[in-house]
Amino acid sequence: MHEKKSTVLIVEDDAQIRKMLTIVLDAADYKAVDSDCGKQGIRMAASIKPDLILLDLGLPDIDGKEVIASVREWSQTPIVILSVRSNDDEIVAALNLGADDYITKPFSTEVLLARLNANLRKAAVREAGEPELVNGPLRMDIVRHEIYLDGEKVAFTPKEYELLRYFIVNRGKMLTHKQILKEVWGGVYVENTQYLRVFIGQIREKLEKIPALESIIVTAPGIGYRMEVLE
Ligand code: CA
Repeated sequence: MHEKKSTVLIVEDDAQIRKMLTIVLDAADYKAVDSDCGKQGIRMAASIKPDLILLDLGLPDIDGKEVIASVREWSQTPIVILSVRSNDDEIVAALNLGADDYITKPFSTEVLLARLNANLRKAAVREAGEPELVNGPLRMDIVRHEIYLDGEKVAFTPKEYELLRYFIVNRGKMLTHKQILKEVWGGVYVENTQYLRVFIGQIREKLEKIPALESIIVTAPGIGYRMEVLE
C-alpha cells in the first residue's frame, strides 16, 4: 500500500491556486486538505491537526494574520505564508505572530516544496529533539512517516502510525484509554475503547514479528496501555 507522507492544510480563497497547490502537493506525496476562508481554516487546523499549514494572508473573512495568532494560541504546527504581499512590514508582522516562513506569489513549485520540506523537518526535530524516535529495535522516522523494525521498513496505516508514535513519545508512561483516544482520534471518540483495542491488536501483530517487541505494549486492564522502554 502506498501511503501519503505529511498532511498539509491549504488556506487560500483563490480556487485556481488551491487546485494548483493540491496537484503539486499530491504529486510530491503530501496529503492536501483545503479551506477557502480563515475561520474554517482555524477549525480545520484544530480538527485535522495537519503537519503544516500553507496560509494566504488576503482571505475573504478574516486576515491571514488573525489565523496565525489564533492557531499559535494552542499549536506549534509550522505555518508557511503564501502571499502576494511582499512589503517588509507584512512579512515581519506575520513572522512575529509565529509564522515559520514566507513565500511571495508568484512562486516556483520547486521552491515551495523545498520550503515545505525544510519546515516539516525543523518541526519534527523541534518536537522530538531529533528526526527519529527509537525504542530498542523499533525506529520511527518522523519526517518520512516510516517505521523500521530491526532495520526493516514495515508498512503501518496512518492511524497505526499515529498511535505508535504517541506510545513511543510517551514510552514508559501509563496512558489511559481516554488519553490515547483523545490524542490520536480526537475528542469525540473518547468512549470508543473497542476501537482502540482493535488498533492495538493490529499494531501488536506487526511488532510481534520481532521477538524483542513481542510484549512492548503492556495492557493494564480497565485502565490503558504502556509502552515499555527498551535498551
Ligand atoms: Ca487571497
